[in-house]
Amino acid sequence: MAESKLKFKCPICLEVLKSPKILPCLHSFCQQCIHEIILATVQNKEPKPTQFTCPICHTVVKPRDPTVDIEKWASILQDNHVVGTAERQECHTCKHHSETSVANFWCKDCNEAFCEKCNAMHGWVKLTSSHNVIPIKDAKFFDSGFDLEVISEKCSLHPSNIIEAFCTDHEELCCVLCLTSSHRKCESVKTLSEITLTKRGNETLEEVLQKMKQETDILLALKETKLILLKDTTGIIEKDAVKFVQTIKCKIDDLLGNFIKQLQIIQDEQDLNIQADVQFLNDFKRTLAHWISATEVIRKCGTETQFFIHSKTMIGQINENITQLGKRFIPDIDTRISFNKHDVLTQVVTDIKAIGTAIVKTTTSEDRTKDLFNLSRKIGIKAVDFEGIAVKHLRNIFIQDADITCGVSIGDNYAIVGAASKNELILYILNIKTGHVVNTTVISKDAMLISLKCLCFDKKTKHLFVVASSFFLQSRILMVEVNNYVIEQPLILSCNIQLGQVIKVGIWDDDLYVLSSEKIQKFKPSLPSKVKGYFTLCLESNINTTSGTNGVALREGTWLYTSGHKQVKCLTIQGNELFSYQSFSLKSPGCLTVTPSGVVVVVDRVGKGSLNAVSSDGKKDKILLQFDKTTRTPTDIWIDDRGEAICVCGGQDIMVYRIETE
Ligand SMILES: [Zn+2]
Ligand SMILES: [Zn+2]
Ligand SMILES: [Zn+2]
Ligand SMILES: [Zn+2]
Ligand SMILES: [Zn+2]
Ligand SMILES: [Zn+2]
Repeated sequence: MAESKLKFKCPICLEVLKSPKILPCLHSFCQQCIHEIILATVQNKEPKPTQFTCPICHTVVKPRDPTVDIEKWASILQDNHVVGTAERQECHTCKHHSETSVANFWCKDCNEAFCEKCNAMHGWVKLTSSHNVIPIKDAKFFDSGFDLEVISEKCSLHPSNIIEAFCTDHEELCCVLCLTSSHRKCESVKTLSEITLTKRGNETLEEVLQKMKQETDILLALKETKLILLKDTTGIIEKDAVKFVQTIKCKIDDLLGNFIKQLQIIQDEQDLNIQADVQFLNDFKRTLAHWISATEVIRKCGTETQFFIHSKTMIGQINENITQLGKRFIPDIDTRISFNKHDVLTQVVTDIKAIGTAIVKTTTSEDRTKDLFNLSRKIGIKAVDFEGIAVKHLRNIFIQDADITCGVSIGDNYAIVGAASKNELILYILNIKTGHVVNTTVISKDAMLISLKCLCFDKKTKHLFVVASSFFLQSRILMVEVNNYVIEQPLILSCNIQLGQVIKVGIWDDDLYVLSSEKIQKFKPSLPSKVKGYFTLCLESNINTTSGTNGVALREGTWLYTSGHKQVKCLTIQGNELFSYQSFSLKSPGCLTVTPSGVVVVVDRVGKGSLNAVSSDGKKDKILLQFDKTTRTPTDIWIDDRGEAICVCGGQDIMVYRIETE
């Protein structure tokens, strides 16, 4: 038993759990540790927090009583009795009466451990006599550390009732009271016994999960192979580069050798020439010296006739020498040797900045997640891939006198739509499940601003970015804080440049990207100001999306857009094209959005219009649904965070569709 006690460590402090608390996701923490996490993650972030997330799996946890002060949230969490007494299970009833005794039995219905005495009493009481009691050694979950009492079967709205049904329309667990009060008109309500009866094929949930785990292993192996391949590839390229440079070095060394040889030959040649001149002059000097001394002797001792004959001979000889001198020195040739460097090699030194470029080319490869998606569909998960995606019309939400041009999901079934109405620009916050508009805020009465082009919501900061178009083809970006479904007064993003016509704004990696007619820019706020800053150019682009529509989406570092040439295109954020898709069935693609699994959902504006899907690799498309009535041309489309609902807006309507599996 000491061993199993060691197993239950707090994932935060890594010590043995102290006052263990368990969350509905079955993760356990020390009370103090989870308390600190709650304070650090929730306190001061929102004016009135109502929930926090599990630090391990991010499951949203709502305190049993949300009105309780946040300081006490950790203390009212479910105690983990199983871990708390892992060493020796105590009788819960006795413990309740401040006594201590060893439990031998476990009642599955009460979720409680009993000692011999209390179990006997539990068996006598009429109410509990039929309960399923097992010997505690058979209650295997003690080794798991999961206290199942945390999975409450009580209705969260009506705690005295137990949950009896599930409404698929609202994705809600219901008790009898819930059913009669809120789900009377719902089409797909099933009692839990009905759900338990309809089996999931012939596989258990665990079997499907096991298969999903195996599929994940396959994906993991593929990625690990890619990792090795990447290392190998860069290794090979590096070797190639080294070899390339070595070849260049060898070649240059060879050329240098040849050049030095050539230089030596030139030197030798020139050397010989000059040496010959030197030789000649020395000879001539000696000849002259000889004639000088000879002439002196003859003048002194010889006859005049001898002198005359001598001088004739001598002058004849000198004449010959002078003729040779003339031949040799007129014109006097001066040889200069210089070094004329090869142009290309000069460029290597001055102009060439790299020996080459490592080119990264991106393509989409075969989708290997298909099996994982198929398996998740089996257990009712709606994150659907292209093959499985289908949509069903749920409801139309109507806003009187509004001209809705754009919308965005802000999470938790809420959306914000932007509209123009009577010279005012208005934002509406609405619940797409109930259709209720919960907030209407006029954000501009400026006559220069004529319409709202698009919206973008930063979930982290709760900032909404609003693009407004003006008369002078100069867009303005407004930033609005959204707190608890209240829209604060807008601030104008001010910056170093004129923006031109902004087509779309999007958030990626905490940065705001702004796509305008010819370029994509990134906004950098000059902190601490959130709205004053400057734009840096990311990319000159010719993303000329179909005009007048919200035909652009920024998703996970890729731009998806419908081009003027009836194509659906995908670019990486660096501007590399991933795909360009065109098909006969997409006649006039307009606004688009992307599901969490990457399926592109496009509005085709031909006829009454339709919703179409394009696969995430840009290889195929299909029609999801024909619009049943001609609304005004849809101006925007968006999807909720969980990829469960699609909204299409235009005119006074917002059409809500549920994403389903086929
Ligand atoms: Zn701890
Ligand atoms: Zn968890
Ligand atoms: Zn007892
Ligand atoms: Zn019982
Ligand atoms: Zn209820
Ligand atoms: Zn319902």
